[in-house]
Parts: sequence; C-alpha cells; structure tokens
Amino acid sequence: MKKVAVIGGGASGLIAAIYAKNKTNQVVILERNSTCGKKLLMTGNGKCNYWNEDQNIEHYHSEEDNLLTKIITEENKQEILHFFASLGIVPKIKNGYYYPFSNQASTIKNVLVKEVEKRKIEIKTNFLVTKIKKENNQFFLFSSEGTLVFDQVIVATGSYACPKTGSTGMGYSFAKSFHHTIISPLPSLVKLIAEKKVNDWQKIRTDVILTLEEEGRKIKEEKGEVQLTADGISGICTFNLSYYIKKGLQQGKKEVVKMNFFPFLKEQNISYEEWFQKQSKLVKNRTIEELLDAILHPKLVQVLLKESGIKSNQLWENLQKKEQDKFIETITAFSLNIVDTYSYEEAQACSGGIPLSEIVLETMESKKQKNLYFVGELLDVVGDCGGYNLSFAWISGMLAGKSCKGEEYDSH
Ligand SMILES: Cc1cc2nc3c(=O)[nH]c(=O)nc-3n(C[C@H](O)[C@H](O)[C@H](O)COP(=O)(O)OP(=O)(O)OC[C@H]3O[C@@H](n4cnc5c(N)ncnc54)[C@H](O)[C@@H]3O)c2cc1C
Repeated sequence: MKKVAVIGGGASGLIAAIYAKNKTNQVVILERNSTCGKKLLMTGNGKCNYWNEDQNIEHYHSEEDNLLTKIITEENKQEILHFFASLGIVPKIKNGYYYPFSNQASTIKNVLVKEVEKRKIEIKTNFLVTKIKKENNQFFLFSSEGTLVFDQVIVATGSYACPKTGSTGMGYSFAKSFHHTIISPLPSLVKLIAEKKVNDWQKIRTDVILTLEEEGRKIKEEKGEVQLTADGISGICTFNLSYYIKKGLQQGKKEVVKMNFFPFLKEQNISYEEWFQKQSKLVKNRTIEELLDAILHPKLVQVLLKESGIKSNQLWENLQKKEQDKFIETITAFSLNIVDTYSYEEAQACSGGIPLSEIVLETMESKKQKNLYFVGELLDVVGDCGGYNLSFAWISGMLAGKSCKGEEYDSH
C-alpha cells in the first residue's frame, strides 16, 4: 500500500489530498493548525473569491511567464469547475468573479473538508513538520509529534503571506534541502506606502484610474476603487500594482503612481479643459470648490485644492491658463512617489518561490527529487486579485494529487 503525505491543509493541500486518494493508497494531511483552511476562511473578505471566468494568462505573474500556459490549460480549468460543481458548489458570478452562492468562505472550506472525510483521508492537526529527509526511496517527515514515513510527499505549505494563518514559509526550506533554488519571495497584493503623508483624505474611498510609472515609463494601468490612507493607498487596483512596485523597488527603481480622480471623463471624447468650460456654463456661478463638491468627497476636494494652490472661491473662467493646467494635472494625475509596501503580515500573497523550470509542470513533481511535489503559493506564481491565487492553488494541487494517485479523478 502506497502512503502519501500532504504537508499543509490549505487550499492547495486539501484539493491535492482529495485527488491523491484511491481505494488502495493511504493519504494523510499534516496540518500545523488545529483545523484546516484557516486562510481560506479569510479570502474574499470572508466570501471566498475562488475562481475567475477570465483566465487570461496575463493575470498570473512569474519570472518564467512563458511556462504558465502549461498549467493554466483549458483542460485544467474545465476540470476545476467540474470539481467544484461535483462537490455541490453553485457559483455566484459577479463580473466574472466566482463566489459560493452562500457568500460564505466557510462553504468552500466545509465542502472540501467533508470530501476529505468522505474519502477517508486522515487529517493530523497540530502537526508541524520541521524537516523532510529521503532515505532508501522513502520520505521521513520529522515533527515534535514523532517521525512519519511516506512513499510520496506533496508540500502545500504556502508562502510567507499572512503568517498568522500558518504559512510561515517553511516550504522554502524544505525545497532548499532538496537542492531547489528559491526566487526571493516578496509581499504581493498589499497596500502601498507613499512618501507624501496626507492625513486629510484618510478613509476616503473613490473611483480612480491609477497609472504606474517605473523610472518615468508607464508600465501598468488599473481602474477601480481606491482607499486613501494617511500613508498611502489601498484597494484592489493598488494591490494589482503592488507586484510590480515591490519588485521594482527591490531593484532600486523609482515607482510613481498617478491618480486620475475623474475616471468618468476618460471614455468621453472631450478634453478636461473643455469639460470644465462646459460644466461651469451649465452649473452657473459656482466656485471651483462647489463644482468639485458635486462630484467628489468634500475632504478630497480640499486636498486637491490645496495641492493645486487654487483658492476655493475662484470661478473656473477667472483662472489663468497655467492655473487651469495645474488644477487639471492635480485632479487627473495626482502623483504619489511610492517608497514601500506593507509587509507579509498584511499581504494576501507572495511573489517569488520555487522556479517553475524546476518542476514537471504536468504533475507538479520536483525535477530534483522523484515522488516529491510542490503546489500552491510556494511556487513562483502570483495572481492578480480576483480569484487567481486560489485558481492556481486548485489547479496545481489537483495536478499533484492526480499524479500521486496515478489515475483519473473519480467524482463519484
Ligand atoms: C486576507 C486574504 C484574502 C485572500 N483572498 C483571496 C481571494 O478572495 N481569492 C484568491 O484567489 N486568493 C485570495 N487570497 C490568497 C489565497 O488565499 C492564497 O493564495 C492561497 O490560500 C494559497 O494556498 P496554499 O495552499 O498554497 O497555502 P495556504 O492556504 O497558506 O495553506 C498552507 C497551509 O500549510 C500549513 N503549514 C505551513 N507550514 C506547515 C508545516 N511545516 N507543517 C504543517 N502544516 C504547515 C498552514 O498552516 C496552512 O494551513 C487571500 C489571501 C489572504 C491572506
């Protein structure tokens, strides 16, 4: 009888164990926490955005981007959707983002744990694996609870992100002990810290277009709601820039985010100047402050007026051309020099990890060590906000499990 260990009972570990189980083998999940899926419960603000309809490869980032198409395949995407349907999950789809119909992350966690139990997969909780050693075709897993011996091991221990959920980066050391290299992990999907401190706009949420300029060159644009904080900016669209920013800052590059607070004008075939002229004729005898107050949060209006150096009681038509230009620049390209991001404690994911080229991508088996597999966030793949990190956890876990099982997944 073959014995398979899955280290880590998070998203990728749970699905890997389910796929690995067959009638004859023994599959055991070793989880350091007292329950599985602690991080899963926090995902999507407690609603779990577990998938995205738009699986375009550009939503995933890796140092070896070219290899991603081997994992995010049509067949694998269909298989994951079928898998969740076979567990009874009915998706609620909002703009392509998948949530369980209950809007509860616990629904996803519970169906996975239930399936683990139904397949008679043992879960050993409060079991912290501290070391893996290979001897005579067998893996010895060490812990303070004793040493266990297995034929195959799937490492699903996550990254450094959100360590309070149990992912403290131990998988990187396990990988290193089998001669894998590690691409330096960095916090990703995380708040940005700006050089300029703006107390007055704290806690305001507003729709924007964000443009990221690296060394003065535009490299990415994001549209959506931003949350303004005293020391920077937060929100999904900023998270999606954080991967590029943290990496750029590590390399000593200058990272500037420009905020356009008038995103609704971007699609209209009219210049900002023309729009203000029209608006000040339409809304007669209103000062600049009053024009803005009808559109933006009043506290944000005060910040923008102060920044552009324009007196709040002025009328648009009375401003000099250079004042109008300065004002338009302030509201459409408010510039923030980004000096850092928040740490792993706040990050939803990590970039970096085990290089994809050191893994057999059809099975997630290590190229350095037979019968040893690595899945989930431990690998050098990070997705955008929108369900992509869980998508990768499901697909990679499924591939490793299938390979251990050595046959097709049976959904009955
Ligand atoms: C607040 C938050 C919200 C998020 N929201 C979303 C979202 O809505 N959609 C999305 O796609 N992604 C989201 N993510 C990211 C997503 O949760 C992760 O990418 C995903 O959980 C990674 O899965 P994993 O299995 O690789 O690792 P994890 O889920 O981190 O699981 C690793 C498990 O291994 C265990 N472990 C670690 N070391 C050991 C050891 N030595 N011995 C035994 N057990 C060990 C840990 O306790 C943990 O249970 C969010 C992340 C956070 C923090």
